[in-house]
Amino acid sequence: MDYCGGKRYLVLFVLINSVLISLQTSKEEVLLDMRAAGAELGWLRSPQEEGWELLQTVVNGSMFYTYSVCNVAGGDQDNWLRTTFIQRRPAASRVFVELRFIVRDCNSFDGASLACKETFNMYAAESDADVGTSFRKGLFRKMATVAPDEISVRGELRVNTETKVVESLSHKGFYLAFQDLGGCVALLSVRVYYKSCPATVLGLATFPDTVAGVDGVALREVSGQCVPNAISSEMPRIHCTLEGEWVVPVGQCQCQPGFEALNNSCRACQPGFFKTSVSSELCGPCPKNTQRSAPGALSCPCQEGFYRAPEDPQTAGCSGPPSAPRDLYATSIAVGKLRLSWRPPADTGGRDDISYSVSCERCEAALCQPCGGDLRFDPGSSGLQELRVNVLGLEPGLNYTFRVEALSGVSQFSSSHAATLLTTTMLHTDPPKVTLIHLDKQTATSLTLSWAVSQRSMLRTPRYELKYRKKEDNGVTDITTYTVLLLEKNTVQISDLVPGTAYVFRVTVLSPEGTPNGEGKEHEFETLPQVEAQVQSRAPVVLGAALGGGTVLLVVVVVLLLHKRRRGAHTRQGPEDTYFSSAEQLKPLKTYVDPHTYEDPNVAVLKFAAEIHPSHITKQKVIGAGEFGEVYCGVLKMPGRKETAVAIKTLKPGYTEKQRREFLSEASIMGQFSHPNIIRLEGVVTKFKHAMIVTEYMENGALDKYLRDHDGEMSSYQLVGMMRGIAAGMKHLSDMNYVHRDLAARNILVNGSLECKVSDFGLSRVLEDDPEGTYTTSGGKIPIRWTAPEAIAYRKFTSASDVWSFGIVMWEVMAFGERPYWDMSNHEVMKAINEAFRLPAPMDCPSAVYQLMLQCWLQDRFKRPRFADIVSLLDKLLRNPESLKTIADFDPRVSIRLPSTSGCDGSPFRSIAEWLESIKMSQYNENFTRAGIVTMEQVLQMKTEDVRNIGVRLPGHLKRIAYSILGLKDQTSTLSVFAV
Ligand code: AMP
Repeated sequence: MDYCGGKRYLVLFVLINSVLISLQTSKEEVLLDMRAAGAELGWLRSPQEEGWELLQTVVNGSMFYTYSVCNVAGGDQDNWLRTTFIQRRPAASRVFVELRFIVRDCNSFDGASLACKETFNMYAAESDADVGTSFRKGLFRKMATVAPDEISVRGELRVNTETKVVESLSHKGFYLAFQDLGGCVALLSVRVYYKSCPATVLGLATFPDTVAGVDGVALREVSGQCVPNAISSEMPRIHCTLEGEWVVPVGQCQCQPGFEALNNSCRACQPGFFKTSVSSELCGPCPKNTQRSAPGALSCPCQEGFYRAPEDPQTAGCSGPPSAPRDLYATSIAVGKLRLSWRPPADTGGRDDISYSVSCERCEAALCQPCGGDLRFDPGSSGLQELRVNVLGLEPGLNYTFRVEALSGVSQFSSSHAATLLTTTMLHTDPPKVTLIHLDKQTATSLTLSWAVSQRSMLRTPRYELKYRKKEDNGVTDITTYTVLLLEKNTVQISDLVPGTAYVFRVTVLSPEGTPNGEGKEHEFETLPQVEAQVQSRAPVVLGAALGGGTVLLVVVVVLLLHKRRRGAHTRQGPEDTYFSSAEQLKPLKTYVDPHTYEDPNVAVLKFAAEIHPSHITKQKVIGAGEFGEVYCGVLKMPGRKETAVAIKTLKPGYTEKQRREFLSEASIMGQFSHPNIIRLEGVVTKFKHAMIVTEYMENGALDKYLRDHDGEMSSYQLVGMMRGIAAGMKHLSDMNYVHRDLAARNILVNGSLECKVSDFGLSRVLEDDPEGTYTTSGGKIPIRWTAPEAIAYRKFTSASDVWSFGIVMWEVMAFGERPYWDMSNHEVMKAINEAFRLPAPMDCPSAVYQLMLQCWLQDRFKRPRFADIVSLLDKLLRNPESLKTIADFDPRVSIRLPSTSGCDGSPFRSIAEWLESIKMSQYNENFTRAGIVTMEQVLQMKTEDVRNIGVRLPGHLKRIAYSILGLKDQTSTLSVFAV
């Protein structure tokens, strides 16, 4: 970049000054200091008498010398005071003159003449030599009229400090002179200095000490040199400002392979670490299955027996060849046809590019030959991705030996492992089925069952899936409450059941791939009755089953989670809540501190967040894009602490200081909270170039996406449990007087145990008094659909406006991530809200939950519940799941926005595909076609049972489709639900 040329300089300089950081503070080189010279000043006075005089004053035991003049009565004064010769440094053509002085108010003298002055003048004259006492006023140029900011009166002296600039100096030295024209002035100190940008190392490049403002150049370009072991594609350059500050670095240096940046230098990677390329990254630890590297390693060699595939990068770990496929077995599927199935190898060698190859031999009398003839493998004999292959063209009754090998990208480096199977072709065609379930034993709390299978000729022991539930739980809503057990034997004892209760069981045989063969017939068995008192203390069913079964492999997690939540709800203590109780809660002592109140944001961040050394952080994968840069998931390993999975928010290169401050302010905010439902801050990296924010890792990501991906798969109880968590987190924030302003499902994160935590403390940066605050914040516009009317109208953001947003989040949760107000524009939403319209209840939404939403959306913010009220109400609902059974009125035509009934044009759907798409159920298109349902007339005839029979099994989906059909039938109803 070319910075030469007068005017262009100025524009650029102004621009850069407004957006860029000064990278180092300036250095001052003093040329003359009146204070330091003490009595040795020897400045020339003209006239010698009556003009400026040298006064001595003792302050706190030290002697001070001051030049002063005070001839205010006489008029016609012209008193000069000239400094000694000031030698200039060759490059310093621009010097600063700092004056400390006192000027008396002319009005404070009784006898002051009209000519009394309240200013004095500063002059300068250049010279190549010290001219001693020869003093010619005519050679001096006037530099400035010096006027006091604060004038002194008798008994109250005010000291002024002013700095003047003397530019374009070119001679060996110069004199300064001070002219008094009849004032009362005391010159306390004169300090002459020039500024320079100090020698520095920035971005791994060294730059020399540089005098500022040489030849009047506003931005002086200086070339630097990369530090040892660093290189740059472009010569590193930087600019020195008139004020002696470095700005606008260009062409960053980066450490070479095998080196990493540390304290402005490149040091060799430590043993056990490596770096493959020229980059700003730190050396990474040697990956899995590699040898510990020597210092300065470019890569880590593989351990013996481990390899890298040719296409694997040097940064990848090494892997071993896969072990042999497991449980190879054959099923006869037709005459001359066999299916070979197997399970994946126990050890994949750490790779996921496993494929399989299969071969066949026929052995007779110790002589083996490849099977020739018509024998074929379908889909082929190599590169198989599935865990099965069909063998065609077999001759009945013959012995065949099949060999299945697992192969991966590193198999070429070592011999592979194969599974072999000797089999004789068979003629069975039916997949095995459970034929009979027998009740072997029955007590008040347990049932022991066993069952028989239709086909005993299989070559391996089958596995079974057993599902059971209480009989009265039947009905569409409760299908998900089946408890599912995977079993390896054909018998099981299920304990801790409720006495005197009927249970429904289904058992199916699992295929080798783990899918059940059909649904299995329902069988019903009942526990024996028992005394009431013993029943009360029973732990719920599932846990008992898991312990009692012995052969149980897995109990479906959803059910366990429910169990956990229920237990939690039971043990939680607290007063009996009244709906929207007005009892004042005790506020915690801690109150949120706005990091903007700190003058230095770096101080704020380190007050609330721990500094982490980047070598303790390993970034593994990009999981999202934040406002300031990528978000990674990775590992945090602090000395003496266990490794933890973390999310790492990064600040993209090229940030401005303002962006860096804003980025880190999120950590300053987050670090002040400590609550299980608020995302936990682990710490920050601020002392290195790449700033980072490290938080706990939330496996399931953002709540809105999670809900959309699991549409219909969660019960109301679970959804309310999630809301309770969010409300508890928000209560903590409001207790600390923190207003979130951007509460929405997209800003809630979900962890592996489905716990929800409030995150994203970005928008809170909007200042209340920012006149632009309504629509423009540093993070974007106000999220209209989530924001309370008073916050949109006059920026009244309070915990009550957060409660409004919470109501919208509740709606998002119950509607499985549906967009609030669907495709209405922001303008339409605001208009509807002002006209007292509110979102209708989502499908299947418990009435109590919808009532709470409506309370959150009360126009009068003082009438909305507080988060403490919301938490206790949700707790109450969770303690009493029965309360969730009453469902709010639901109008499918509004809630799922069917075009034909939403008031658009009233025209019916032209095809099933179009209809399914409008209710976001396109995945079932084929189910309808396969069942021969091809016209909308046929659809209108379908009952819920018919929809289930064509293969729509998920309760949420089943309902969505069934309700939609209901809505289509009822074209005449009005759109009444939308109004409150
Ligand atoms: P944000 O800048 O907070 O909006 O983050 C951007 C995206 O990164 C989010 O939408 C999430 O998908 C992901 N993300 C952020 N923080 C985490 C975390 N702690 N755990 C998991 N994913 C996260």
